[in-house]
Amino acid sequence: MRQKIVAGNWKMNKDAESAQSLASEVVNMVKDEVTSEVTVVMAPPFPFLSSTQRQIGDAAQVFLGAQNCYPKDSGAYTGEVSVPMLKSVGVTYVILGHSERREYFGEKDATIADKVDAVLAGGLVPIYCCGESLETREANDHEAFVSGQLDRELFHLDAEAIKKVVIAYEPIWAIGTGKTASPEQAQEMHATLRNHLAKKYGSEVANAISILYGGSVKPDNAAEIFAKPDVDGGLIGGASLKSRDFLEIVKAL
Ligand code: PEP
Repeated sequence: MRQKIVAGNWKMNKDAESAQSLASEVVNMVKDEVTSEVTVVMAPPFPFLSSTQRQIGDAAQVFLGAQNCYPKDSGAYTGEVSVPMLKSVGVTYVILGHSERREYFGEKDATIADKVDAVLAGGLVPIYCCGESLETREANDHEAFVSGQLDRELFHLDAEAIKKVVIAYEPIWAIGTGKTASPEQAQEMHATLRNHLAKKYGSEVANAISILYGGSVKPDNAAEIFAKPDVDGGLIGGASLKSRDFLEIVKAL
């Protein structure tokens, strides 16, 4: 059975105090209300990783995520944060290839592939994001586009390595826009990605990889998206900033 995951990407939001409150509310609600086997990830901005980890404490189902990393271990890279640093403060998951990093920070295929390698080499789990723009979807090129992202950024991995990656399909036109992919559109793309993985690595490997959907998931649309057979959870932006909304989404899985 594939791992079920709901990951909250807090992006560049919160301050020290409100980050601590959000983390503590999420951890307590998960402890009290979540009985299923869902893995919950909170990915706060770097300055709040340690305080979030303190809130997580020994909660069995909740894990710390980071929103980015640099692929070198240490050295003269002003402003960057390495995988060993993330590990040392308790991070387990690292979001990579997010469309905002691609768009605003110019991250290209080779950089994303290097980051995937660094995260895996450090024993952490990449949450690798892919997804097409509205223009690409309207040109009906979305399947080829997203398959190409996998070819260039993930398919250098061997079968053992790729099994450790979590994939997040995030259509750019649905991120932060309030416009979500329909459950059918999500399922269609998740199945396309799984078939693409199967062609390269075989169906046993493809069936073991969790594929999350991201893009305006909210408490009122989560259940129907998560009900689709190839959707193994969600990467949640805006709705992860309110503990009750985030919990409702976790409970929908
Ligand atoms: C995201 O940034 O990964 C995301 C899915 O954002 P939102 O849920 O706000 O669309």
